[in-house]
Amino acid sequence: MPSSKITMEPLRTILRMELANGCNNTTVIGGLDKYLSNWFRENSHCMKPPEVIKSFNLGESGYASLDSARRKEWILAVSDWLDRYEKSAVQKPPGQKSRSSGAEKPTEYGVDSPVTIIKGVKTGIAPKLHNLGIDTVRDLLYFFPRRYIDYSNRKSIAELRADMIPGEEGTILATIWESNVVKLGKKKGTDITVGDKTGIARAVWFNQPFLARVFHTNDTILMTGKVTVYKGQIVFESPEWELVNAEDMVQGNLLIPVYPLTSGIYPRQMRNLVKRAINDWLGGISEFLPDDVRTRNEFPGIGRAIYWMHYPNDQEQLATARRRLAFDELFLIQLGMLRKKRNWQTGRTGHSFGPDMKIIREFLKSLPFSLTNDQKKVLSDILADMKKSHAMSRLLQGDVGSGKTVIAITALLAAAISGYQGALMAPTEILAEQHYINVCKLFSGLCASQQSDGNICHFLDVLGSDISFALLTGRLTEKEKNLVQKHIEQGEVDIAIGTHALIQKGVEFKNLGLAVVDEQHRFGVTQRSALRRKGFNPHILVMTATPIPRTLALTLYGDLDISVIEHLPPGRQTIKTRWFRPELRERAYEFIRNQIKEGYQAFIICPLIEESDNIEARAAVAEFKRLSKDIFPEFTLGLLHGKMSSDEKDDIMSQFRNGEMDILVSTPVVEVGIDVPNATVMLIEGAERFGLAQLHQFRGRVGRGEAQSYCLLLSDVSDEGSERLKWMEEINDGFVLAEKDLELRGPGEFFGTRQSGLPDLRVAKLSDVQLITLAREEAIALHDRDSNLKEEQKIALVRELSRVWPTSGEWS
Ligand code: ADP
Ligand code: MG
Repeated sequence: MPSSKITMEPLRTILRMELANGCNNTTVIGGLDKYLSNWFRENSHCMKPPEVIKSFNLGESGYASLDSARRKEWILAVSDWLDRYEKSAVQKPPGQKSRSSGAEKPTEYGVDSPVTIIKGVKTGIAPKLHNLGIDTVRDLLYFFPRRYIDYSNRKSIAELRADMIPGEEGTILATIWESNVVKLGKKKGTDITVGDKTGIARAVWFNQPFLARVFHTNDTILMTGKVTVYKGQIVFESPEWELVNAEDMVQGNLLIPVYPLTSGIYPRQMRNLVKRAINDWLGGISEFLPDDVRTRNEFPGIGRAIYWMHYPNDQEQLATARRRLAFDELFLIQLGMLRKKRNWQTGRTGHSFGPDMKIIREFLKSLPFSLTNDQKKVLSDILADMKKSHAMSRLLQGDVGSGKTVIAITALLAAAISGYQGALMAPTEILAEQHYINVCKLFSGLCASQQSDGNICHFLDVLGSDISFALLTGRLTEKEKNLVQKHIEQGEVDIAIGTHALIQKGVEFKNLGLAVVDEQHRFGVTQRSALRRKGFNPHILVMTATPIPRTLALTLYGDLDISVIEHLPPGRQTIKTRWFRPELRERAYEFIRNQIKEGYQAFIICPLIEESDNIEARAAVAEFKRLSKDIFPEFTLGLLHGKMSSDEKDDIMSQFRNGEMDILVSTPVVEVGIDVPNATVMLIEGAERFGLAQLHQFRGRVGRGEAQSYCLLLSDVSDEGSERLKWMEEINDGFVLAEKDLELRGPGEFFGTRQSGLPDLRVAKLSDVQLITLAREEAIALHDRDSNLKEEQKIALVRELSRVWPTSGEWS
C-alpha cells in the first residue's frame, strides 16, 4: 500500500466482528493469527513490529490457542491499544473531538477506494472489473456469486465406483493428471484424466477442445455430472466443473462460489480477487442497520452476511445472508421514499385549495351517471389532500374503464375554481386529444355558453366562474403552439391538456397547482422529483390502469399515497374471453368476419418478438400482408408498429377510430390506449408469450361501447402457458391477474427498477412480498422515531442512504 498511514479501521472492525461472533476465530478466512501476521507485514514500514507485537501480547501459539474468555479480554485490550495508537498518530488541532469509530477517513484508503488498492490487483485488470460494474473495493465485496457448487455430497473416486448407478450424477474433487484434445466422433473434444488418493477417473467434453488448454496438470478440479463406466473406468460426461485451489476448501465450506465473469477474467482469478478483498477489507464495511432492527429480525451483522454470501457453510447460512442483504436494499429504498415524501411535504408549502364545493357538486350532478362508491371515496381523499398546505402525492389505481378520468377532471376543476392552474398529461398525443374532447363534452352539460377557438375552449359562467381548457400537442402548428403557450403563461388557460411535454419542454405556467399524470407507469421516481424541482410544488396525481400488486406499489411508489378504484361502474359488460387451440384458428377468423359484417371493428395484436423492434415490425408487416391478402381480402386493414413515426401512428389510430378501417393490426409495443367504442373484438396472437397483466390491458381496449365484446387468445403451442390462458378465460379482475402474474413471472413484467429510477437491486426480489412488507414497516417505524437513534448509528445509516440515493441530497 502506498500510504504511509496505517488503516486501523479494518482490523478494528474485524475485532469487533470477532467479538460479536463469540470469539470463535471464524471472522477471517484462515483464522485471526494469519490475518495478524499479514497485517504486521503490511504495516512494518511504519510501525515497529516487535514493539507492537509486545503490545498485542500474544504468545507463540497465538490467538487460536486462547480460550474464549481470554480471547475476549485480548480483543478488548487490543482495541484499546488501537484507539490510543491512533490518537497519538493522528495530529489533530487541540480541542477537536475524535471521530466516532464507524467513520471513514476520507484521506485514507478505504472500501470506497479503487480496487487497485487491494494487494496484488494490477491496474490492468481494473477495466475488466469495470465491465462487471466493479470499480471500488466495496463493489467487489458486494459482487456476489451467481451460483455455488455444492460439494457437500462429493465422494472419493473409490466410493463413487462402489456405489454408482451408471447414468446418475456424481461429484468428485480430484487432481488433474493429464489433459488432451481428442477426436470424439467427427468433432474434437477434451479428455482429461484425474485422480485422488483412492483411484483414477476420466472426464470428456464434446465439442470443447479449448478446455484442454484451460486444464493444467496438478490443477484441482471439482466436477459434477453424469457418470458412466467405459472399459472399466469411471467417466464423467460433460460435467460441470470448477477449478479450485486448496484455499477454496478451507473451513469446511461446502459451497464454492461461482462468480459472473467477463472476458479476460477467469473463475479462479475472480475467486481470489474477492477473497483478497474479503480478507483485507471486509472490516471496512460498517454496520448501518440500527441494533434493534437487527435483533428483532435476527439479522447477522453486515460483515458476517457479506462473508456468508461468498462463503456459506451451507444453504441455511446462505439464506440467512441473502435475507439480511435483501432487507438492506428494500429498507434503504423505503427509507429513501419516506424521506422524499417528507421533504416534499415539509420542504416547501404547497397550494392549499379551498374550492367552492357547490360548484363541484353541481358539476357531479350534471354528469350522465352518478359516481360509484369507490369513486366517491377516492375523490374525497383527493379533495382532502389538496386542501392541505403540503403538496399531495397520490397514486390512483383503477382498472381500464373504472372511471379515473372523471376523478381527474373534478380535481382539475377544484384547482381552477380555487384560482390555480391544472395540467393533465397523457402518454400519447392521441390520448391527450381524447381527453380534451371528453372534457369539452362533460362540461357542456354544465354550461350554456362556450366559446371555442381551435385549441382553447372557454366555458363561461360555470356557476359564476369562467373556466378555460387548452390542448397543447405536437400536432399544433408553431403559431398555434406559441399562442396556447402564451395563454398558459399568462394564466388565461386554467386547465392545460397535453403530453408530458407540457411540463418538460419549456412551458411556463403562471400558477400550476395540480398536475395529473395519466396512464403512466413510466413516470418514475426521477420524473416525479423533476416535476417537484421545477420551482412550483404542485399537487401530483398519478393515475395508472396497470394493476400493480400492493407490495410492488409500495416499493415503486413508496413516496405516494395510494388510492384504488376496485370496482367498475355498474352495468359493465364482461368481455368474453376464449382461448383457441391451434387447430381452431380458422374459427377465430370466422368470428371476426361475422362481427365486422355486423358493423363492428377488430384489433389483431401480433406476437411479441423480443429480439428487436425491427424484427417485430417486420413480422407485423408480413402478418398484415398475409391477413389482408389471404384471410380478410374483403375488408380494410390498417397497420401500426413501433418503427412508425408518432404522426403516422396517430393518423392510423384516428382512421381506425373514425371507422375508416375494419381491422387494426398492431405490434404489442404500440400502446393501443384508446377508446374505440365500435371495436368489439381483440384477437391476440401468440398469447402464451404475454404476461397476464399485459393480456388484460389489451383486453381492456374493447368493451368500451354498448355491444358485447370479445377477446380471442390464439396460441400455436398447445401446452405451454396454457394454465395462464385458462386464467384469462376465467378471471376478469385485473388485480387478481396481476398478483398471479407477479407470482408466476416476477416483477420484470411490470417495470425494471432502472426504469423506475430506483436503486439497483442485487439481492432482493420484488416478488418477495413478505420481506418488502417487513422493510416497509421497519422503515416507517424508524422514520417515526429516528431521533432516538444513537448518533453513531445515525451517521452510518445516513452515509449508506446517500450512497444508495446519490441524487437525493440532504439526508441528515
Ligand atoms: P379509465 O379509468 O380507464 O380512464 P374512463 O375514465 O375513461 O376509464 O371511464 C370509462 C368510461 O366510463 C367513460 O365513458 C366514463 O364516462 C364512464 N364512467 C365513469 N364513471 C362512471 C360511473 N360512475 N358510472 C357509469 N359510467 C362511468
Ligand atoms: Mg383513462
